[in-house]
Amino acid sequence: MNLKSQTLPELTALFKAWGEPAFRAKQVYTWLHKGVRTYSEMTNLPQALRQRLEESYPICPPEVVRKQESSRDGTIKYLWRLSDGNCVETVLMRYNYGNTVCISTEVGCRMGCAFCASTLGGLVRRLEPFEMLDQVLFTQIDSGLPVSRIVLMGIGEPLDNFDNVLRFLELVNSPEGMNISMRHISLSTCGLVPKIDELASRKLQISLAISLHGPNDEIRNQIMPVNRAYPIDELLAACRRYFEATSRRIHFEYAMIDGLNDREQDAKELLRRLKGLPAHFNLIPLNHVEESPLKPSSKKAVARFQQLLEAGGITATVRRTLGGDIDASCGQLRRKYSKEQTQ
Ligand code: SAH
Repeated sequence: MNLKSQTLPELTALFKAWGEPAFRAKQVYTWLHKGVRTYSEMTNLPQALRQRLEESYPICPPEVVRKQESSRDGTIKYLWRLSDGNCVETVLMRYNYGNTVCISTEVGCRMGCAFCASTLGGLVRRLEPFEMLDQVLFTQIDSGLPVSRIVLMGIGEPLDNFDNVLRFLELVNSPEGMNISMRHISLSTCGLVPKIDELASRKLQISLAISLHGPNDEIRNQIMPVNRAYPIDELLAACRRYFEATSRRIHFEYAMIDGLNDREQDAKELLRRLKGLPAHFNLIPLNHVEESPLKPSSKKAVARFQQLLEAGGITATVRRTLGGDIDASCGQLRRKYSKEQTQ
C-alpha cells in the first residue's frame, strides 16, 4: 500500500490507529500532494514520525527516463520509470486555455485496437491511484508549468482500471491536494458499456470521450475488438444514458484512416446514428504506427468529413497534432524505449 493512494479520511484513520492526531494526517497529505520525494522534507513533522513513515510506507516517486520537448509547439513528453521498473508515458500540452496533462492509466493495454501502439505488447499491469497522481504532480514540478487540466488518454484503458481511476479522480480533485476541477478532467474509453453505466451512476462532472473511429459494426469490428463485445448501438445507447445522468455533452474521437472510415457515406451514417445526442467530434488524422498497415486520411478527406458533420449539426474540430516530432502519441515512446533495451 502506498500512502499517496489513500484519501484524507483514510489517512486520518490510519494515523489515529498510530495514536497520532488528525492534524498530522493533514500535514502529511498536503506534503505528499505537493510532490515531496522523501519524508525528510516534511519539516513540520517530528523526526520519529518521519522515520516511522519512511520505514512503513516508502514514497517511491517515479524517475524521468526520457524527456522530449517539441521545438514546434512546446509539448513535453515524459517517459517515467515506476518503482517496479515498468515505464509509462505522460504528455504535457500547452493550450491557450491552460496546460493539459495526458496521463497513462495502465502499463500496456489489453483492448487490442489495430492502430494503437500501446496495446502491441498487451497489458502488463494496471496503475495504482498514486501512480496516476504522480504523473500529474511530477510533470508539473519538472516542467515548472502549472497544470489545470487532465485527460486520461495516455497508455491504457481507464475503464478497465475502474476503481483505481475513480480513486485517482477523488485524490486529484481534493481541496487539500491538487484541487483540479472535475470539469477540467476528460476520460476516454474505447467503449466498455457496463463501465460507462457505472461511471454515469457516480454523476461526476468529468467529460466522457468515446473512441469511436467508425460509423458501424462492420468498420469498428475490423479495428476495435471491443466492438464485438459491445456493438456500436449498445455503445451509443450507453452514451445517451450518460448524457441523461450528467448533462455532459459526449466527445467522440475519430481517428481518420485512409479509405476505411473517411468516406462521405461514413459521415452520413454517423449523423443518422447520433441523431439527438449532444455530441462533439474530434477528428484526428491517424498517427502512423510502424507495425500497422493503416494509413492516415488526406487533409482534404479530413476537411470534407468535418464539413459533412457540421452541415448535419454536429460540431467537429480537427485536432491539431501536437508533438509530432517527439513520438508524442500513445505508447510510441515506451515502445521505442523497450525495443532499444532488448536490442
Ligand atoms: N483506451 C482509451 C484511452 C487511450 S487512447 C481509449 O481507447 O479511448 C487515446 C486516444 O488515442 C484514443 O481515441 C485512441 O483510439 C487514439 N489512438 C490510438 N492510437 C492512435 C493512432 N495511431 N492515431 C490516432 N489516434 C490513436
